[in-house]
Amino acid sequence: MSEFIPVFAPLLDGNEKKYLEECIETGWLGSNGPFVKKLEQEFSVFCGQKFGSCVTNGSSALDVSLRAMKAVYKWEDNSEIIVPSFNIISSAQSCIYNKLKPVFVDAEDNTWNIDTNKIEEAVTNKTKAIIIVHIYGLPSNVKPVLEIAKKYNLKIIEDAAQAHGQTYYGNKCGSFGDIATFSFFTNKHIACGEGGIVLTSEENLYNKINYYKNLCFTKDKFVHNDLGWNLRMSNLQAAVAYAQFEKLDRTICIKQHIGNLYQKLLKNIPAHLSISQTEYAKNHYWIFGIVLNDDVKFNAKTAINKLAGENTETRPFFFPLHKQPVLKKLGILDNIKRPVSEKLYERGFYIPTGLNLTDEKIEYISKKIKRLF
Ligand SMILES: *Cc1c(COP(=O)(O)O)cnc(C)c1O
Repeated sequence: MSEFIPVFAPLLDGNEKKYLEECIETGWLGSNGPFVKKLEQEFSVFCGQKFGSCVTNGSSALDVSLRAMKAVYKWEDNSEIIVPSFNIISSAQSCIYNKLKPVFVDAEDNTWNIDTNKIEEAVTNKTKAIIIVHIYGLPSNVKPVLEIAKKYNLKIIEDAAQAHGQTYYGNKCGSFGDIATFSFFTNKHIACGEGGIVLTSEENLYNKINYYKNLCFTKDKFVHNDLGWNLRMSNLQAAVAYAQFEKLDRTICIKQHIGNLYQKLLKNIPAHLSISQTEYAKNHYWIFGIVLNDDVKFNAKTAINKLAGENTETRPFFFPLHKQPVLKKLGILDNIKRPVSEKLYERGFYIPTGLNLTDEKIEYISKKIKRLF
């Protein structure tokens, strides 16, 4: 078997086509269309929040969320926001675009989520919020974060772009933050190419989000008091996202099947695999990760290249935010080490979990991985 195996592939076998046809037949293309409204209403209820506002992607969801919070809570420039160092650039970038300072906290060795024991030492009198990011399919340990937030009067933004439908002690990811954000990028559990949503139960925040995402239009049409952005999501994208939302349970089932099979097939390799569960959640395996043990003689890059030679696409883990060249250039980095995120990048990579993977392909991939050792 030498057919190329991509690291991810979506499954568009629900109502995606039907709903797209509906858009075309009715002429509803734009962001005021019925699928946008349905998705906003139903996804916010599903996640336990009052309001939903669709946006262009998960990164812009964070941009507009921080801007709305900064305005509503009157944060000064250079206020500090705590962000996991083992993370995609989006949340740090959103802080900087909004003249806020990201402060990075290292990951836990076991779950790869933010190390909640290290949050409190990062809090200063400038800290205003914590961004929790649920990493790779397992939720962050939310409870200690909520306690710290309460103690220091901090807001919480929950980046749940990898955790649609995931729960923490039975409560939905996306229900804990003052704001929660999701992405609907192609490789997320709800996918429509590009898209995202912001959820909140605070009407003030919701109104500000809608204001900034829609060019800061006022009732006096074409008269503007502020500069905003156009971050509106189209009805076409929402049609696909809504169809994907309808079958989210099945998507999660498929992911868990893939994850469970890898667990079984790879259990003896000298590496730390994505863990199957914690006390508070079962893994949804947004990705299936492998972190090579210290005594393995090669690093993640070598494994990635070797597997590419076997027609198997894999990806490196996140490059730690506290080492990002762009952030160094901007002069916002400190000299604190975050050894876990640094190790995760050196030693970690993730393997295919496309929704169309057959057991046979999972076995093939596992065989090639075992052969690396
Ligand atoms: C995918 C992702 C984003 C960014 O979403 P886009 O839609 O690609 O902009 C942000 N945060 C996390 C945790 C993500 O996984």
